[in-house]
Amino acid sequence: MDFIELLQQGLLKLNNKNDMGDRCTYVGSSDVAGCPRKAVLAKTEPQDHELTTLLRFARGHLAEQLIVSAMEDSSYDWDYQKEVSHRERPFKAHIDFVFNGKNVLKVLEIKTVSSIPSAPYETWIQQVHYQMGLLQEENPGKIVKGCVLAIDLNEGRIKPFNEFEYNSMLYEGLLQKATHIWQCLQDPDIIPKTETSPLCAWCQYRPECPAYDNHVEIPELPIEDELANYLGLKATKKNSEAELVKLTNFLRFAIANANPDGMAIKVGPNVVRTNDRNWIVVE
Ligand code: SF4
Repeated sequence: MDFIELLQQGLLKLNNKNDMGDRCTYVGSSDVAGCPRKAVLAKTEPQDHELTTLLRFARGHLAEQLIVSAMEDSSYDWDYQKEVSHRERPFKAHIDFVFNGKNVLKVLEIKTVSSIPSAPYETWIQQVHYQMGLLQEENPGKIVKGCVLAIDLNEGRIKPFNEFEYNSMLYEGLLQKATHIWQCLQDPDIIPKTETSPLCAWCQYRPECPAYDNHVEIPELPIEDELANYLGLKATKKNSEAELVKLTNFLRFAIANANPDGMAIKVGPNVVRTNDRNWIVVE
């Protein structure tokens, strides 16, 4: 018996069970939270998820179930996986939790992380604002607020980011992004916009991405973990300057050793180089 294969199949089944319907028929909150090109390709050219990704999905589901268990005996009026839709367009969100107060509706989005960031990621903010916008449209008489709860299951740490309130301008911008994604799905001649971010390091559609030059021959090193740590630290602006300096020096040293003339290496699909100021640049 290949246990890894068995585990992968089981997690795939679990993921399909938790799936939110046919994602090709609507633009969801995770679509508008990231890169439009990635959102379009994920629907038109879906790729098999690797075991690491499936485990990450399962970790998220597990965290949601912990919240469900904790809430079950409470006196709160709440919904789990609440579906909200735009009144005219195929835009939809499945909100992890909605707490129903007399005058206020509160969105709660659960995020499992490997380390708690000091500030919410931009993708989280966009996702929650899209959810709040759709919920506000369905409930015009209520105040809609939002919260992201970051959970680090390994360390047993949680942190709520509470500061979100429905904002019509932000919502309008997200509706425009959703419209662009939907137009790309309807007309293959429309080229989806790219939106680069540290998440590009994990993007399955990176090889042909026009935001990057993928055709230059550069030496490759298997140091994905160090690069992922470096990107994570940089993106969250954590107070881990010492660790960041250590990883920066590690990358500089690796580049200088592997490619002293070109001063660039490949780490998985990423190109990592040092520039004139001796900074690390990840492309
Ligand atoms: S590599 Fe980055 S910019 Fe390109 S499709 Fe993926 S997420 Fe978008």
